[in-house]
Amino acid sequence: MGDCIFCKIANKEIPSEFVYENEHIVAFNDINPTAPVHILVIPKKHVESLSELEDKNLMAELLDGVRLVTKKLNIKDYRTVINTGKEAGQEVFHIHLHIISGRPLKWPPG
Ligand code: 5GP
Ligand code: ZN
Repeated sequence: MGDCIFCKIANKEIPSEFVYENEHIVAFNDINPTAPVHILVIPKKHVESLSELEDKNLMAELLDGVRLVTKKLNIKDYRTVINTGKEAGQEVFHIHLHIISGRPLKWPPG
């Protein structure tokens, strides 16, 4: 959609290396990783945020994407995060699931 950076990554307008891709989703490394493993899973279709995600099939594809990516890369312990809205830390308004791993993660987060 328009000048959405993640749409451009998903449709290959911006060349990126995907760690996983299927008909519905792509996964790629975060440009500014907060852990040794920091992957983003996004739908190919533009959806602003979790609040706008009405397509239940796509919800399932995104979560299954996390499962498939972690399985493919043999990531055993990981955190999955979806930031929704500015105050919650959402900076890119194309829904994405963070997969964070490779170091001990504190709970609760800040
Ligand atoms: P948010 O804060 O919206 O939950 O997460 C956005 C994430 O996207 C951030 O972790 C940020 O580093 C990452 N990001 C922003 N722009 C790009 C980009 O152009 N390429 C990649 N690979 N990651 C990006
Ligand atoms: Zn988009």
